[in-house]
Amino acid sequence: MLSSRQKFAFRSVQHWQNLIKNQGSLVNAIVGDSCIHVDQHYPLDDWRSPCTTFQGFYHCHRADGSREHGHIHLFKRFDGIGLVHLFAISFDNKGLPLSFFNVSPKVASDKGLCPSIRASVVQSGVGSWRTFADKKLSNVLFFVINLIGMYSDEIGSQMAQEPMCSMARCGKEVMWIYNINWMADLAKL
Ligand SMILES: [Zn+2]
Repeated sequence: MLSSRQKFAFRSVQHWQNLIKNQGSLVNAIVGDSCIHVDQHYPLDDWRSPCTTFQGFYHCHRADGSREHGHIHLFKRFDGIGLVHLFAISFDNKGLPLSFFNVSPKVASDKGLCPSIRASVVQSGVGSWRTFADKKLSNVLFFVINLIGMYSDEIGSQMAQEPMCSMARCGKEVMWIYNINWMADLAKL
């Protein structure tokens, strides 16, 4: 019987293959054929779940050919707090995932939230994230959701270990980074 990690991994590969077949790459599927504009959100008005609980976008900070092409920032809206940055996923120029990371609340311009509550969004399972996937970009978002599912233990434990909100405002831009080798991790399953 397949473990939940294996199921997510299997589905991530299926959606990855659809992306390659239909749009060439994850980056092409998100950005299109034109050159990427630094700091512009893709899509322009962000991905939003129908109930606007989840939100996300892809962007790049530098078009200098560094190893990272860009990253997806993911947010969740909490009652009484507003939009909170959960974490980000970094991709190379072929659209292969490189790492998961989080920026400090200061950089994300949100009010911060207790790390364990933020981590529980990932650890409680990515089932609820499915509402996030709209039809237009279903391959991209289903790939991302299943990739998160595959690594939910690792992401959740990194998030849970984040310093408390007040301490996080110490000027650090990146609070944690978890590098992955997706292909090698798939081969190990
Ligand atoms: Zn960014």
